[in-house]
Amino acid sequence: MTWRASVLTIFPELFPGPLAASLAGKALAAGIWSCEAIDIRKFAADKHRTVDDTPAGGGPGMVLKADVLARAIDAAAPAGDPRPRILLTPRGRPLTQSRVRALAEGPGVVVVCGRFEGVDQRIVEARSLEEISIGDYVLSGGEVAAYVLLDACARLLPGVMGEDASKAEESFEAGLLEYPQYTKPQVFEGRAIPDVLLSGDHGKVAAWRRAEAERATRERRPDLARRKGPERE
Ligand code: SAM
Repeated sequence: MTWRASVLTIFPELFPGPLAASLAGKALAAGIWSCEAIDIRKFAADKHRTVDDTPAGGGPGMVLKADVLARAIDAAAPAGDPRPRILLTPRGRPLTQSRVRALAEGPGVVVVCGRFEGVDQRIVEARSLEEISIGDYVLSGGEVAAYVLLDACARLLPGVMGEDASKAEESFEAGLLEYPQYTKPQVFEGRAIPDVLLSGDHGKVAAWRRAEAERATRERRPDLARRKGPERE
């Protein structure tokens, strides 16, 4: 069954965009997943296709209107649509690999991309939106965050990546960052590939990789290192 992504945006022309290339793009062409962009403006009620208004309480910028978003969400995901509805926002919970894995195992996602100062908060409760952030920085719109979310999900769909082992060993899958990777030439600008990787001793290679993964995680991500077992929400 096709994993379905519906993206609500005021810039529908941005989709599938970069998701049409490489692994995700091949999977899209093969029908493993679909990416439907829905133009929020089509659900505006006036002839100027107004989707935003000034913030209640004053302040700079504009806010996407709840009534317009509600009509767009209802058209994209009528009652009974089992897909999680996600609002991309810096106010959301940080996206994690375990959440990505769970989403990839489901039927797909409905993604709302904010713009301007964000969206009217009432839509979150009114349409049970899950608020997700892709990191502690502010983008100018949710579309780039949607690329991140959809790319991370698409590569985990069955049949998208050749080597299942490569998924299992990747950063975050065991609560660790991945070990460093090398390829030929054996010596690059005087720097050699670590001898153990050329030893042919699979046990020693595995032990070295584990130690390097643990060291990188301890040094760079003490927050991950403190957790035991696979990374959690
Ligand atoms: N005023 C908002 C705030 O301070 O939280 C920022 C709004 S931002 C300029 C416009 C839109 O970009 C947001 O509504 C959201 O959809 C998207 N966005 C920005 N940063 C994001 C992030 N880190 N994760 C997910 N979406 C983000």
